[in-house]
Amino acid sequence: MSQQTQTPPPETEYVTTTRIACDGGDGALGHPRVWLSIDEKLGYVECGYCDKRFVLKKD
Ligand SMILES: [Zn+2]
Repeated sequence: MSQQTQTPPPETEYVTTTRIACDGGDGALGHPRVWLSIDEKLGYVECGYCDKRFVLKKD
């Protein structure tokens, strides 16, 4: 059990396609836009710039 008190958990966004772009959003976390592909076996991908996690939402 580890408690994270210093850094908030990375943002998670649920998406419906495996190909998504991340630019870090507004503010300090902004970065050049990169394209990411979700590995369908994993079901998610993390942005290398801002650590944001994109989770593939399956219906
Ligand atoms: Zn990002």
